[in-house]
Amino acid sequence: MHMRTFGMIKPDATHRGVQDDMIRDIEAAGFVVEQRIQRPMTREEAEWLYREHAGRDHFEGLVDYTVSGDVVMLLLSHPQGDAPQRFRTLMGPTDRTKAPEGTLRHRYAVGYRENSVHGSDSPEAAAAELGHFFG
Ligand code: ADP
Ligand code: MG
Repeated sequence: MHMRTFGMIKPDATHRGVQDDMIRDIEAAGFVVEQRIQRPMTREEAEWLYREHAGRDHFEGLVDYTVSGDVVMLLLSHPQGDAPQRFRTLMGPTDRTKAPEGTLRHRYAVGYRENSVHGSDSPEAAAAELGHFFG
């Protein structure tokens, strides 16, 4: 069940050119990258992805950051299922200073906002985000 999820490498990471290293780590954890699109997000796409944050103090800065360079949108699957939860575990928590060793955010994140990776937070979010970005 829930074989697929949506992942995204964020602009702080593409700015440093580490997206291929991150994708190697994601594949090493057993995920299959079924599709991959590297391009900048539009403002409208970023506002949609982070719509739950609309109205918060950090929203405009978050959208500005999200459109500040290329992202890599990933259609990910995991043969053992539970892809959304499994990918969130690989990412580590939002705050990189609390991220365990071996997580992507421990390895790559450089700030609270600049935390290098997004992953859908539930099977429902994964279906919505995959539908939005991979149609
Ligand atoms: P996650 O990405 O771990 O699911 P959230 O959904 O809470 O975290 O937030 C989405 C993204 O918005 C975070 O990954 C981070 O880049 C940014 N963010 C969240 N809260 C803040 C904040 N208080 N200040 C700045 N950026 C934030
Ligand atoms: Mg989230």
